[in-house]
Amino acid sequence: MTDTPRRLIDWFIRFPGIGPKQAKRFVFFLASQNRAALRELSELLLRLTDEMVQCPSCFRFASRTHAGTCELCASSMRDDALLMILARDADLEAVERSRTYTGRYFVLGGLLSPLEKSPETRVKLRELVHHVDTAKSTIKEIIFALPANHEGDYTGISLRDSLEPLLSGSEITISVLGRGLSTGTEIEYSDSETLEHALRNRITR
Ligand SMILES: [Zn+2]
Repeated sequence: MTDTPRRLIDWFIRFPGIGPKQAKRFVFFLASQNRAALRELSELLLRLTDEMVQCPSCFRFASRTHAGTCELCASSMRDDALLMILARDADLEAVERSRTYTGRYFVLGGLLSPLEKSPETRVKLRELVHHVDTAKSTIKEIIFALPANHEGDYTGISLRDSLEPLLSGSEITISVLGRGLSTGTEIEYSDSETLEHALRNRITR
């Protein structure tokens, strides 16, 4: 195999949930496309970086509004007293789809793992501490909407350790989603009803 297919395979393996077999299948699929289709794809990819930017407030990827943030952060209809912390953009989309939450969001960009040496480069933990510190006077509840698995639990414990010094003496409570979510469940793949149930039955810890 020449260099280009191999480099493309290496690229696709970086996509969430894609293994070497699927990556190879993508490359064969692309090879079967005509030049016009591939040009359109490469133009779309380049345009994506101009149109979707990371919101400087909640760190989700979205189109920027004139306010410089995403439309959820710019909206005056959202409840400043609630801050939901999620691992990924796809989780936020799922919660929005459930139409049960009206507060603000913060997207970590991933989960923490006990084996990883410097997760700070990937996960926005420092940014979260700064965010909570600046919004401390308006936040009343911080909701951990993390997946019900080992990494989700570990991340929750680490977040709590990082946030607790900030919250001591404040009225802010921390809650976690009720385990309407079964163990191992990804937020992204939960149906709206399950999410709504988990959100309504969130537990203050
Ligand atoms: Zn935002």
